[in-house]
Amino acid sequence: MHEMAIVDSLFQIIDAKVKEHQIKKILKVKLKVGEMTVVEPMTLTACFKVYAQNTVAEGAELVIERVPLMGKCRECNKVFRVYNYNFKCPQCGTGFVDIVAGKELYVENLEVEK
Ligand SMILES: [Zn+2]
Repeated sequence: MHEMAIVDSLFQIIDAKVKEHQIKKILKVKLKVGEMTVVEPMTLTACFKVYAQNTVAEGAELVIERVPLMGKCRECNKVFRVYNYNFKCPQCGTGFVDIVAGKELYVENLEVEK
């Protein structure tokens, strides 16, 4: 399961932070998730809850912030929102587009109690 693997790596990050900062309790975890990662927020939240049991993150709130998929045209440098994976520049019509946002998946911040 894709989401379970994500939560697994998420907890590796959390564990490292807990050890580093001697955190006693995690209250909130804020995640940035790009549109291209095709993560289902409901599933991710459910996996997170299961994983958090009996850890410092038990009962913590998982906040998922979706990052829209953005492309940048190589021809005219226009940055635009990509809908339905249509990588065609709306300004000049070419398809030479770099993805500039939408692939992220990381912990933006942790709200903790020490
Ligand atoms: Zn263009």
